[in-house]
Amino acid sequence: MRKTFIAGNWKMHKTVSEAVALAKELVPAADGNSRYLIAPPFTALSAVGEVVKGTPLLLGAQNMSNAESGAHTGEVSVHMLKDVGVQVVILGHSERRLIYGEKDAFINEKVKLALDNDLEVILCVGETLEQREAGEVEQVVRTQVEGGLKGIPEGFLDKVTIAYEPVWAIGTGKTATPEDADAVHAFIRKVIKEMYGDKAAEAMVIQYGGSVKPGNVKELMAMKNIDGALVGGAALKAETFVPIMKYDS
Ligand code: PEP
Repeated sequence: MRKTFIAGNWKMHKTVSEAVALAKELVPAADGNSRYLIAPPFTALSAVGEVVKGTPLLLGAQNMSNAESGAHTGEVSVHMLKDVGVQVVILGHSERRLIYGEKDAFINEKVKLALDNDLEVILCVGETLEQREAGEVEQVVRTQVEGGLKGIPEGFLDKVTIAYEPVWAIGTGKTATPEDADAVHAFIRKVIKEMYGDKAAEAMVIQYGGSVKPGNVKELMAMKNIDGALVGGAALKAETFVPIMKYDS
């Protein structure tokens, strides 16, 4: 049985005091049947780490360097993340791919480094509107899944979550219909099956991301292949994120 995984990506929002205040509001809501994660900006990780320490609310980072240490101005290493209590890192977010030019091979280096250092990974994949309209959804998603997981042994897969985030649905208010999203999730599961076999495909947790809100989370989570949500805008306030965390209560 796959356990639902609800994650909030705060992106470049919140000062340390704002982040701590929101984390304190969310801790009591992390008491249901799902796994729960918040990913504050780097500057707030340490302080938020103190708030969530010992609670079921997991601490996530939004990115990580592909290098372990050294002359990499502006980067943050896997060891630095672990040092402040980070348990999960989001890699390959479409904003990293599209604004900062991250490619699958580069993302794959980060995935390997995170897993080698016992950090869980949320690997984001998803097509742009242009790619969807050109009928390229499966080809794009397959390339991103295969590229991101290249060389990752099956034994590490329980530390990997895939987030399907159609770019045209991120921050736009447009959500994929539950049926459309489920079809892509089923396809991702098929790709995992081809790479690792049936058991691994059945066990893979696949989150949906793209304008998830309190009003649409239930119908999305009801789909057979949707095992959680990666939430941006609606994760920035307790009044919208708590109902998403508690969608099943
Ligand atoms: C995201 O950026 O991961 C995301 C899904 O954002 P939003 O929920 O705002 O669409």
